[in-house]
Amino acid sequence: MLPRLGAGEPLASLQVIGHSVQGRPIYLWQLTQGIRPLLLVGGVHGDEVEGYALIERYVASGKWRSLEGRAALWAIPCLNPDGCALGQRLNANGVDLNRNLPTQDWIAASLEARYPPGAAPGSEPETQALLASLAQIRPRFVLSTHSCQNDPYVNYNGPALELAQVMAARNGLPVTDDISYPTPGSLGTWAGQERRIPTLTLELLRRRC
Ligand SMILES: [Zn+2]
Repeated sequence: MLPRLGAGEPLASLQVIGHSVQGRPIYLWQLTQGIRPLLLVGGVHGDEVEGYALIERYVASGKWRSLEGRAALWAIPCLNPDGCALGQRLNANGVDLNRNLPTQDWIAASLEARYPPGAAPGSEPETQALLASLAQIRPRFVLSTHSCQNDPYVNYNGPALELAQVMAARNGLPVTDDISYPTPGSLGTWAGQERRIPTLTLELLRRRC
């Protein structure tokens, strides 16, 4: 899981922030150093290949180097390595990690079969790794990359409308703060709505095969 940056250039740092249910390491990369901490999160849903592939491509591109000295850019390329290995949305306990964060609106009931929230808020080791990283980094911006079957979009939570519009101007996707169904226990709710950390959830179009 060491990204190849070319010319043997090392990352500023690499940490293992925890292990998945099946014991796979969960990595946190630091790409640049600076005052303003930013966090990218990919692979929350293991079947959404486009989300973590985007982060890996971005890291490989070296475009982030322009942030050096201005922002501390961190990335968790794959929060759900078991799901990624198994090609499934949920973690190996069958929990939707984007419904497992300890938000005020967390509920034990699964709103739909594909959104099981876990036995308790923060019950999953992957969620605990994410929470530990958020506490360590204290990001001032969070971008989580996902993919969906239809109608991709840029979703924002908290004070992130302008950032969403900047992203949308580049990728041509619509911006929304309302995805028409509740998402208790999500990263957008935890970070954006409850802590006012500007948070974007980028939903790319899922590859059809
Ligand atoms: Zn997703």
